[in-house]
Amino acid sequence: MKKVELKLAFTELGLDELDHEDKMLYDKAMEAAKIAYAPYSGFSVGAACLLDNGEIFTASNQENAAYPSGLCAERSLLFYVGANRPDQTILKLTVVIKSKLRDAKKIYSPCGACRQVMAEYQNRQSSPIQIMFEAGENKVLVCSRIDDLLPFIFNF
Ligand SMILES: [Zn+2]
Repeated sequence: MKKVELKLAFTELGLDELDHEDKMLYDKAMEAAKIAYAPYSGFSVGAACLLDNGEIFTASNQENAAYPSGLCAERSLLFYVGANRPDQTILKLTVVIKSKLRDAKKIYSPCGACRQVMAEYQNRQSSPIQIMFEAGENKVLVCSRIDDLLPFIFNF
């Protein structure tokens, strides 16, 4: 028997510590969250990504009364980018929450389904995607690659 421990790497930053690019992505994601359609969960989520050609795209969660028919902001964004910019590399992805229900002490990381989709896009482009998400009041966590959010990525 062999016991193995995994180490995950991330950086915790205050919003005031973000560089210009990451702050801009955070702000764009927050703008997207404002127009989310989230009448059922009460959690408006915004996502923004930066491509290697400099383009920035945003999306928000889109809920539906038939629950499984809705979609998270992250997957709404990645599927849009995959459908419209299939040859571009995604450099960074930022996810933010806007909600009255938000717990200021809680980390709001992407759900498992979104992590798997992120992993597929990262694998498809053969280069890491930086992911940033909220971790309490005015703080974020930054992972330099999806692997740090999803060890043992399901892959073929
Ligand atoms: Zn999700």
